[in-house]
Amino acid sequence: MDQKQILLDALAFHGHRCWASTAGVRAGLVALRLLGTQRSGAKSLHAVLENGYHHGAMCFGDGVQYATGCTFGKGNIEKVAKGKLAVTVIDKANKRAVRVAYRPTLQKQIKESAFMQKRSAGIPPTEIPEGEQWELVNLIWEAPEETVLTAGAVVDYAWNEPPEIVRFAICSGCGELVAESYLRVVEGAPLCIDCSGYAV
Ligand SMILES: [Zn+2]
Ligand SMILES: [Zn+2]
Repeated sequence: MDQKQILLDALAFHGHRCWASTAGVRAGLVALRLLGTQRSGAKSLHAVLENGYHHGAMCFGDGVQYATGCTFGKGNIEKVAKGKLAVTVIDKANKRAVRVAYRPTLQKQIKESAFMQKRSAGIPPTEIPEGEQWELVNLIWEAPEETVLTAGAVVDYAWNEPPEIVRFAICSGCGELVAESYLRVVEGAPLCIDCSGYAV
């Protein structure tokens, strides 16, 4: 797929246009290129995202998810709490990995942009004029790769896949579907954690 189309689709998925999600798309695409692989709809890749929580640049993670196909739904992406815009993409089949980090050479321009001035004033990104959203998307998208990203070497990475639970049961309390490994048994009846009254 055309890379610009991937960006447009990623921004549509993300919900607004911003520099951090754009950086995430670029980081994901570069990781795939360095690993010599492609976005996967299965689980042949795994991403370790260094975003952390509760800050304004977590949008990076949505760009990575869309570009690589490593998603929270499939469970082949995880967050570690470092507060950084960086990701390690692991090619499980070939046991190789590469880390790609955002390089903040344009941060002064970003900080002074109309978009970020409004974000700092507490205006949600979706309420910022589209032209001002695109200004920062284009700044990151059109910059030379080495200006906005730093890529490490491709390294060997031994991957041990945890077994996947494929059996489910119906909780006899609430009737909801529960993965078997999460069931509790109370007086012989299979119950979900909520219905069992047991602490997690
Ligand atoms: Zn965003
Ligand atoms: Zn239940």
